[in-house]
Amino acid sequence: MRYLLLSLITVLTISCNSAQSSSKTKMSRSDYMNTITAEDLSKHLYTFASDKMEGRMTGTSGQKMAAEYLKDFYKSQGISAPAANNNNYYQPIPAAYFGRSQDMMDSENVVAFIEGSEKPEEVIVLSAHYDHVGMENGEVFNGADDDGSGTVSMLEIAEAFQKAVKNGNGPKRSILFLHVTGEEIGLYGSRYYTENPIYPLQNTVCNLNTDMIGRIDPDKADNPNYLYLIGSDKLSQELHDVSEAVAKEYSDLELDYKYNDENDPNRFYYRSDHYNFAKNNVPIIFYFNGVHEDYHKATDTPDKIEYELMAKRAQLIFQTAWEVANREVRITADKL
Ligand SMILES: [Zn+2]
Repeated sequence: MRYLLLSLITVLTISCNSAQSSSKTKMSRSDYMNTITAEDLSKHLYTFASDKMEGRMTGTSGQKMAAEYLKDFYKSQGISAPAANNNNYYQPIPAAYFGRSQDMMDSENVVAFIEGSEKPEEVIVLSAHYDHVGMENGEVFNGADDDGSGTVSMLEIAEAFQKAVKNGNGPKRSILFLHVTGEEIGLYGSRYYTENPIYPLQNTVCNLNTDMIGRIDPDKADNPNYLYLIGSDKLSQELHDVSEAVAKEYSDLELDYKYNDENDPNRFYYRSDHYNFAKNNVPIIFYFNGVHEDYHKATDTPDKIEYELMAKRAQLIFQTAWEVANREVRITADKL
């Protein structure tokens, strides 16, 4: 009886172990993608875009609190600060850099890093600005869509990549998660980064920038399953083609290039942080939902976000990052 019991335990242990290891190796990129959920995004955003953050105006205590939220998240996930940034999650930017009024305060970009397993010197930069416009007459501008949506999407994307790392499926190239400050007052944080890059720009494969992906453009009310892509083919045909192929395979979103038109009067290509990478010849994609009635108003609140749609959009960005990080050949600015 005892003997039998022992062997039964042995069998159970063995089968248990093998089940564990096979589930590890069997997790696909779609499984990692599916860890990005509407529920998690919503949890993050209700905190990140709450009144407590006071509208996250560059240099204010609200912005510092937001920076801390990001730093704490990466720490909790075991995603390290870049060694090349002295193991610091903050890239400090002195007040003088913002070149505005006397009362401007120091600020900081927030950075976290997953090192590539095969080509660690080649870096994909995912970016989103975490600052917003602050408060006016005691009213908080929550900036849930602008750009709380991009910010919390990046957290979920980072978490998905870190799960892959833990399973031995980490990206071949490195990924820098760059949360920039000073966007709303003139794209300062991204400009500072590109002038003081933690990793050389010539080794920066591409920049995928997310600014506003949680809402629906009123023009798209009848067809909300979309995402605007801007700039994907400006410097690199290869990046554009990869992005299209990934979307076809892993997403049912319609990629809309309406705002990619050179003659579009909105000139969105020049209006968010990716542009500082593009002007340095780093291929970029800008992900965007378009403007809406709450854009830059106190009414851009977390309850108006379309979380299921936002999860789909974040999942597409994850898959694109996965592809450019893992494919054999590095993306280049082949249109230069
Ligand atoms: Zn924005």
